Amino acid sequence: MQELGLPKFRAAQIHTWIYAKNVSSFDEMTNLGAPVREKLKQVARIGCLEIAHLQVSRDETRKYLFQLPDGKIVESVLMSFNDRTTLTACVSSQVGCAVGCTFCATGYLGFKRNLTAQEIVDQIMMIQRESGKRIANIVYMGQGEPLLNTEEVIKSIHTLIESVGIGARHITVSTSGVIPGIERLRDEDLPVCLALSLHAPDSKTREEIVPITKKYPLGPLIESLKDYADSTRRRVTIEYVLLAGVTDRPEQAKALAEMVRDVHCMINLIPFNPTENNLGEIMYERPSREAQLKFKQLAERTGKTVTIRLERGTDIDAACGQLHNKFLKAK
Ligand code: SAH
Ligand code: SF4
Repeated sequence: MQELGLPKFRAAQIHTWIYAKNVSSFDEMTNLGAPVREKLKQVARIGCLEIAHLQVSRDETRKYLFQLPDGKIVESVLMSFNDRTTLTACVSSQVGCAVGCTFCATGYLGFKRNLTAQEIVDQIMMIQRESGKRIANIVYMGQGEPLLNTEEVIKSIHTLIESVGIGARHITVSTSGVIPGIERLRDEDLPVCLALSLHAPDSKTREEIVPITKKYPLGPLIESLKDYADSTRRRVTIEYVLLAGVTDRPEQAKALAEMVRDVHCMINLIPFNPTENNLGEIMYERPSREAQLKFKQLAERTGKTVTIRLERGTDIDAACGQLHNKFLKAK
């Protein structure tokens, strides 16, 4: 505002229009005079994303493909759960991902680039604008590894809390286990929830399916998770993908329960959502419902709450990276 020769209070007004009132054009900012709006139009624009594609599923899940200023595409999802009246948005933190988990469609894409904090926040603003609904919960579980883009992710969290008005306790960052990122997030002193994609309690299996395990081994990883839970006094979430014959064995359920015994956490089991790799193959199978329940029961033995993830939008490719890959293939 100073550069434009405008009074300082205009900045606060514009800030409120954009974040609290969620407008998409300067013309909607009715308490700014026409000359001010013209000036702003010449030097700035609101938001940086465009909707490239939108799919709405039978259960009302909305899946967005957003085009970034450089033409690249990312995914975001808006979900509602029957047991909740509030809405949850799942946002991406990177285009593609370098971690390369063997069951993940985003991993198959490879790493393209980090998103900026603005590109992350804009996913939320665009979803609210398009759906006309207010988002209460945000999970960093879209494409990318948020803790390999930690500084922009932290910046985006600050904006979401301080400007958009989302409660820190309603924000969850999910990581494949980047220890320095977990420590950085702890030191930022934002009481956000942390979810760790553990996926296997033994190093051999985990190294195979979550290759970053070789860099950040299981022992120190569980320590850093425990430290996060202790320092922030927040209960962390352990995510665990169920791949038939690979991660769903009874001894793994028992080992999982033991491994997190001393961590203030809950466990969320995610039955594998079949995705094709670059060769068009589906490498794993989802365990039967019976096997899922058996695993749950064994994982509960040290007293932790264990849930099986409620699936949303399975009819519209809502698993991480799925729609994006289909879109690229069709192009
Ligand atoms: N990169 C972060 C966050 C994004 S993925 C992470 O890995 O934690 C969000 C969750 O979905 C992770 O637990 C991830 O392992 C899981 N996931 C990815 N592909 C999946 C699939 N095909 N089926 C089930 N879960 C999957
Ligand atoms: Fe990356 Fe997460 Fe997918 Fe692994 S599961 S490849 S860390 S997005």
